[in-house]
Amino acid sequence: MLINANEEIVKQRLPELLREYDCCKCEKCVNDMMAIALNNIKPAYVNTAEGMLFKRINSMLPQKTADIDIEILKAINLVSANPKHNDSNAG
Ligand SMILES: [Zn+2]
Repeated sequence: MLINANEEIVKQRLPELLREYDCCKCEKCVNDMMAIALNNIKPAYVNTAEGMLFKRINSMLPQKTADIDIEILKAINLVSANPKHNDSNAG
């Protein structure tokens, strides 16, 4: 099974990092954040056996996770400053 290890890391880290933020966390905004972060992070495809634990994927790229966090935080800041959702109850 071919997966983008960086995408898996973003999927796991984005909700964790969002906990620290008091910004909109609707599906639209979270998906925008994910798209922006992933567009700024080079894909890292790995061939993994089915059922491989994320922990193991993560351990393959330990030096990259800090860089990925930075890109995720940039995406959170960008989207929360300019949310694209149609929320009339903003604030
Ligand atoms: Zn939103």
